[in-house]
Amino acid sequence: ITADQLAKDTLANIKETDKKLNAWITVDEDAKVAEDLDFNKNKLAGIPIAIKDNIITDGVKTTAASHILDNFIPMYDATVITKLKEAQATLIGKTNMDEFAMGSSTEHSYFGATHNPWNLDKVPGGSSGGSAAAVAGGQVVAALGSDTGGSIRQPAAFNGIFGIKPTYGRVSRWGLIAFGSSLDQIGVMSKRVKDSAEVMNVIAGGDEHDSTVSMREVPDYTKFLGQDVKGLRVAVPKEYMSDAVDEGVRKAVQDQIDVLKENGAIINEVSLPHTNYVVPTYYIIASSEASSNLQRFDGIRYGYRAKNTKNLLDIYVKSRSEGFGTEVKRRIMLGSFALSAGSYDKFFRQAAKVRTLICNDFDKVFAENDVIVGPVTTTPAFGIGTEISDPIKMYNNDILTISANLAGIPAASVPAGLVDGMPVGLQIMAKRFDEGSIFRVADFIERQN
Ligand code: GLN
Repeated sequence: ITADQLAKDTLANIKETDKKLNAWITVDEDAKVAEDLDFNKNKLAGIPIAIKDNIITDGVKTTAASHILDNFIPMYDATVITKLKEAQATLIGKTNMDEFAMGSSTEHSYFGATHNPWNLDKVPGGSSGGSAAAVAGGQVVAALGSDTGGSIRQPAAFNGIFGIKPTYGRVSRWGLIAFGSSLDQIGVMSKRVKDSAEVMNVIAGGDEHDSTVSMREVPDYTKFLGQDVKGLRVAVPKEYMSDAVDEGVRKAVQDQIDVLKENGAIINEVSLPHTNYVVPTYYIIASSEASSNLQRFDGIRYGYRAKNTKNLLDIYVKSRSEGFGTEVKRRIMLGSFALSAGSYDKFFRQAAKVRTLICNDFDKVFAENDVIVGPVTTTPAFGIGTEISDPIKMYNNDILTISANLAGIPAASVPAGLVDGMPVGLQIMAKRFDEGSIFRVADFIERQN
């Protein structure tokens, strides 16, 4: 099969299967296959890849699943896009997500909910739910997502695929529509661990446009595949295996831990004592940063502008009132409040302090362990429409994924079997810039299952 034919088949298959999944916001009918494909040099040459719709693409509509950007066509590429194009990947289009990546179910999209390919009545998770469903549904081999508090790992878990959030600063955020700038990280999702390693090889590394990205050399992540786990020190936080986690999920995770143990890994029970504070800490910090980042959507510079306005203030207020969805407005209000003069010390500053304690918890565990493992979520995918009206419940879903973002460490989800017919994930976390250990363990688990 030629790369051109593969792109055509991929587009035709998406057209057919996406009637049910709604995993895409924009399918690029003119998706370009690179010229002079060099299959020896470029492992991704001619491979169709999906891009979450908060990563900007030159000439291809980029909406962040928001009404306020529903006609926005960027004039340049995000760095990860430039790198994928240099690697001759075929970029097929843009996937559905929660508006501005705020959510855990992809129900907060201006373009309607995405459905989980395992069961169309269930959510695919979020916010990178479109990317996850596109991979799990067999539409593409790999997809880019973003993860601010779990948005790659939770949908990967709910869809039975692999997904990795790299270390903060491992992949350039230039061209990622900012949500929480101290937490956001672009990463990859794929069925096979190896395919994510190949994509990481391309997208990781320095970038003059992003001052927070590390110039450290990028290892060849495929070198970590095919290894054993003998002598690997694996920490299991007791807070991640409490009865707040569904019994079925705990059992599925325990089975994987047993496999590691049988194969020579050293399992240590540890404590991450501040786990109970991660949800409020994250929602204050992420919302505060969001309220600041989203100021730029003023109805003048980008996207949607309200009609029949009287003056400049009226343009701002009406465009934002009509352009943003409920969840985004909730975050902007929460964040503006947490940053306001009377509340800053009590909320934002306090959250920043607790964040340091959470980081210290991880440093302590990693002083004596190579990786941390546990569940990604407390339950398998929930039903569409069942949690959308209860934001606190929705926020609490993120308790097991948020910490990695607060601490800036890499973390992934690898399939850990089924519970009631729906997939669940094993989470693997490692030290900053040690994505290699994650690939080693994830690939090992994949080969056992
Ligand atoms: N569910 C979390 C939130 O709503 C995380 C989202 C994300 O990682 N982008 O903020």
